[in-house]
Amino acid sequence: MKTILFHGPSGCGKDTQANLLVEKYDFENIGTGEMFREMYMAGDIDAIKAREYWNRGKFVPDDLVYKMFGRWMDKFNNEKDWILVSVVRSANQIPLLDNILKERDRKVDTFIHFKLSEEKAIERMSLRWVCPSCTTVFHELYKKEKVKGFCDKCGMKLEQREDDRPDKIKIRLEEYNRTITPILTEYRNRGILIEIDATPSIEQIHSELIKALNL
Ligand SMILES: [Zn+2]
Repeated sequence: MKTILFHGPSGCGKDTQANLLVEKYDFENIGTGEMFREMYMAGDIDAIKAREYWNRGKFVPDDLVYKMFGRWMDKFNNEKDWILVSVVRSANQIPLLDNILKERDRKVDTFIHFKLSEEKAIERMSLRWVCPSCTTVFHELYKKEKVKGFCDKCGMKLEQREDDRPDKIKIRLEEYNRTITPILTEYRNRGILIEIDATPSIEQIHSELIKALNL
């Protein structure tokens, strides 16, 4: 069973690509997006501790996050191939991830980095509109709403996220490039880094990915 990491700046389409591998190749897509909330709701002691850090406006320590992440992984089928999307946020977290994978007889086999130029990222994100009510995302090029400016699902007037304005996107990309560089260096040194151009269409990127992963 393979364990593949997916990383890339916002707008690179990594979640879409992960979902395609789930549909077509039966991967498990394991992210941490729902982890804190769901584990907190389930009364998990570490999630309660994590919430206390948050409430005090502090970062949740890496050790605590990865302890939770290990237990979160247990919800998924360990016999399948896994994709982990954006789970490493700093080089310090790499050994913590290695440990929890090792406990499950796994290791990171491939690190996929989806690359997108600043120009392209700005184009993609500044054309993105969000429904404030049901959070459906629309895009002027890739996923147009039926009635311009209004949500297909619930009819609410669409809004642009503050974060999707070009000046905000630039700041976010700079921050992304700064944090990802040492992470890429580590996986490049291990010989398992594959960089994929995220500029072409969803289908083209998917077929590049299939080749890269020998699927
Ligand atoms: Zn809506």
